[in-house]
Amino acid sequence: MFGLAKGLAYTLKNLSRKKVTYSYPDEPLPLPDRFRGIQKFYPDKCIVCNMCVNICPTDCIQLTGVKNPDPTKKGKVISTYDINFEICILCDLCTEVCPTEAIVMTNKFELAEYSRDELFKDLQWLDENDQHVRKENKV
Ligand code: SF4
Ligand code: SF4
Repeated sequence: MFGLAKGLAYTLKNLSRKKVTYSYPDEPLPLPDRFRGIQKFYPDKCIVCNMCVNICPTDCIQLTGVKNPDPTKKGKVISTYDINFEICILCDLCTEVCPTEAIVMTNKFELAEYSRDELFKDLQWLDENDQHVRKENKV
């Protein structure tokens, strides 16, 4: 009987406390400012310098570029840009090294798929991944 009263008292005491759980996925989780989530890519900013590819510790970035079709401009423009999220460890090195901030981390972390092939994300997917871009990284 004493145990029952003790349990009831504990329940009543906690009824008025602030909730520490979230209605995920209906409510977005509050994430820290420096959270390292799945990258957003800005093709127009990329100068095809290859620095992100060279620094990546898991070799999960592949890109190709072509000569700028505008004869008044020098350099290359990006043609394909792929990241293999089977092996990306979201270490942030590619975004830190990028001189033009063409690739930035976001607050997106949900990437569950039924097939491993779906974890291979291309330029279009990375360009459209802009729902969770942090304020300071938006164009
Ligand atoms: S976050 Fe790290 S592992 Fe992932 S693509 Fe960038 S450098 Fe490579
Ligand atoms: S480091 Fe930045 S600018 Fe250079 S290839 Fe990678 S994404 Fe493009």
